[in-house]
Amino acid sequence: MTSASPTAFSALPLSPAMLSNLEQLGYTAMTPIQAAALPPALLGKDLIAQAQTGSGKTAAFALALLANLNPRRFAVQSLVLCPTRELADQVTTEIRRLARAEDNIKVVTLCGGVPLRGQLATLEHGAHIVVGTPGRVMDHLERGSLQLEALNTLVLDEADRMLDMGFFDDIAKVARQCPPARQTLLFSATYPEGIAKLSAQFMREPVSVKVETQHSAARIEQRWYEVTDTQRLDTVGRLLAHFRPASTIAFCNTKAQCRDLVAVLQAQGISALALFGELEQRERDQVLVRFANRSCSVLVATDVAARGLDIASLAAVINVDVTPDPEVHVHRIGRTGRAGESGLALNLASLDEMGSVGKIEHLQGRESTWYPLAGLEPASGEPLVPPMATLHIQGGRKEKIRPGDVLGALTADLGYTREQVGKINVNEWSTYVAVERGIAQQVASRLNAGRIKGKSVKVRVLED
Ligand code: AMP
Repeated sequence: MTSASPTAFSALPLSPAMLSNLEQLGYTAMTPIQAAALPPALLGKDLIAQAQTGSGKTAAFALALLANLNPRRFAVQSLVLCPTRELADQVTTEIRRLARAEDNIKVVTLCGGVPLRGQLATLEHGAHIVVGTPGRVMDHLERGSLQLEALNTLVLDEADRMLDMGFFDDIAKVARQCPPARQTLLFSATYPEGIAKLSAQFMREPVSVKVETQHSAARIEQRWYEVTDTQRLDTVGRLLAHFRPASTIAFCNTKAQCRDLVAVLQAQGISALALFGELEQRERDQVLVRFANRSCSVLVATDVAARGLDIASLAAVINVDVTPDPEVHVHRIGRTGRAGESGLALNLASLDEMGSVGKIEHLQGRESTWYPLAGLEPASGEPLVPPMATLHIQGGRKEKIRPGDVLGALTADLGYTREQVGKINVNEWSTYVAVERGIAQQVASRLNAGRIKGKSVKVRVLED
């Protein structure tokens, strides 16, 4: 008999059904955070884990909470608190994928910005696992629509972000309503003071685990360019023309800078959208859908707005302004170069920002490599255009529209090929479908004249 490799999932006390599910998901070996966190977590220990998005941290806590779960008991047994709705949605998806090994495990998402009524109805049908944002989870506890007497696992995901957003009191109130004998798992990218306070109050002899963030940083090529403030925004356009990344997040330190940059890029014919903290949820959803479905080349965001965002395969990150917090820099650039791919981080810095650049060098333990602006020649005469465009269809889940209905209308009814259609997102009231940019207007008018699920629909192309 050969002994299992230390990073094989089979080295863990997991059920055969779970092991075969992991294999089907293509999880052949544990990621470093999983290898560090799962052995103590599966022993029932409280855990403080330092991990970034993209490290496989969701599966690390999901496997632990699923191991604690009794599917035959119809009560909420796990609660995962997340800073944002996007993160809560991603966590829910990952838990559902991992829970496939067991029958009928119900996972419910409870976030703000979504009508309470639907959530109340869902909760009445019973849930094993709740994933939500602290404020909305508190609302449900106060209304009595959520009970935590049967809870055995509490997870605080991206705890540092939740503290940044002022959720300490809500987290504390929620934790006080959980049975004291539960297991608590805390995940955080950084360790601000509040984390120690949280763990001292709500955790029992937690084990700390940590994986080096430098691993992923090594796969990311970082280039620095010195600019004056008047050159800064135009230089972003030059970087895009030179490197032609398929999708980019450009980070600015302020909302005003985001607005200015989007205006400059749009004037250059580059498809760019801004993500501010103050956008309405609906607008925010729309921006994220358009970026993720490849119909927008550049997402311009502040750090606050980009929290909890997990967009796979970003070709580049551009730091338009240097952040004064070096940990934020590491977090920003960690969004490119995921899952073994190489990443590109392009950084602009003025002389005034060199102090912050020094702090970043110190944290990363390496010097910056500077490149001349003169080297930024456009790589091609063609403008940088995203491959897809997004159609907005009025009507969503409320009208019982499903992605298959939209795909059917486009392929079976109108004769487009599967390849011409991209991602389809069905929200409560609207549906977004990405189609090849060149045919977008034609598809919109044909859909307007036709039907989806036997009903006529209103469709328009979303332009910048
Ligand atoms: P996370 O850090 O939880 O956002 O996970 C990042 C991505 O890695 C997700 O798409 C997971 O599905 C994936 N993932 C997590 N664990 C593994 C693993 N052991 N092997 C391969 N992929 C994984």
